[in-house]
Amino acid sequence: QSPESQSILEAHQWLAKLYHHLLRNSKEGKAAYQYLIDRGFTEETIKKYQIGFSPNSKDFVVTFLEKKGFHPQTMVKAGLLSANDHGEYTDRFRGRVIFPLRNHLGKTVAFAGRAMGEQEPKYLNSPETELFHKNRILYNFDLARASIRKQKTVVLFEGYVDVISADQAGVHNGVGTMGTSISTNQANLLKRYADKVIVCYDGDRPGVEAASKAAKLLKSVGCETFIARVPDGLDPDDFIQKHGGDRFQREVIETSDTYMSFMMSYLKRDYNLQIEGDRITYIEKILQEVAMLDRAVEREHYLNEIASEFEMSIDTLKEEIQRIRGQKP
Ligand code: ATP
Ligand code: MN
Ligand code: MN
Ligand code: MN
Repeated sequence: QSPESQSILEAHQWLAKLYHHLLRNSKEGKAAYQYLIDRGFTEETIKKYQIGFSPNSKDFVVTFLEKKGFHPQTMVKAGLLSANDHGEYTDRFRGRVIFPLRNHLGKTVAFAGRAMGEQEPKYLNSPETELFHKNRILYNFDLARASIRKQKTVVLFEGYVDVISADQAGVHNGVGTMGTSISTNQANLLKRYADKVIVCYDGDRPGVEAASKAAKLLKSVGCETFIARVPDGLDPDDFIQKHGGDRFQREVIETSDTYMSFMMSYLKRDYNLQIEGDRITYIEKILQEVAMLDRAVEREHYLNEIASEFEMSIDTLKEEIQRIRGQKP
């Protein structure tokens, strides 16, 4: 590790402590603390996740870092400070609630700053650095690892707040992709620790689209994949705040769809099955999915289902599956 990376790492540990301290003890931090309480975070959770607040001051953090001996240019590179045209430095996250982003060893390597009002962007994340590669880190993996191992199951969320809120609700094996796409790297990491992955993305259109993509990738690296059904317009955190943690576990996590039943209803939305042409296209799409299944028993199971739903002969469907599988690279 380069001296610069070492310095960036140290600065993050100091700042995480400072931001957390300011949330709890500064006058300005009070509103941020209340914001979190109003959103349903407990005192214990705020501590556990070292959630913080960065004051809306131009030089508070700059002075702090300077006093600790950090080089301002390095801090700019780390994404902690911004520099303006006049060569002045300011705290990049100022005025925001701070979520420290930890690597798999539990070290803070980046931050996400949540605006407390309607300012854009809603979340300001650290840039990519030598220590922080967004597509290699899974949010909360360090704390969730033991629970993931024990249950051989991981729950995948898109937002920080969803992960934290689920933890409060008793789902301790949750990790976040920090946005909506999951990388092959992250999928392989999950595969190493868990047999089963439950994708629990937001119940809006982008969330459902992203869930189908994530599920495909997870399936392709060999994870047994399920997709949770979060009611339209809510995300996992919204659901928990509205209906409570017990209902979240029972009605969302425990009743998640298998990959195929999710795909069937997902693809159905795009077609009007009363129309012959649509119906045929839909069946072809579903057969593409069935053809990708590794186990013959599983393929047979779904072919039977399709055969009876659309009153087709199983032999025709099997023939089609053989054809598709023959084309597989
Ligand atoms: P909240 O509940 O605080 O509104 P959320 O997690 O529901 O947050 P979403 O809009 O669903 O927010 O976004 C999901 C995730 O995508 C966020 O947690 C964050 O990691 C990432 N994200 C969202 N907006 C941005 C943005 N403007 N810049 C960078 N990342 C973002
Ligand atoms: Mn979303
Ligand atoms: Mn959301
Ligand atoms: Mn949310």
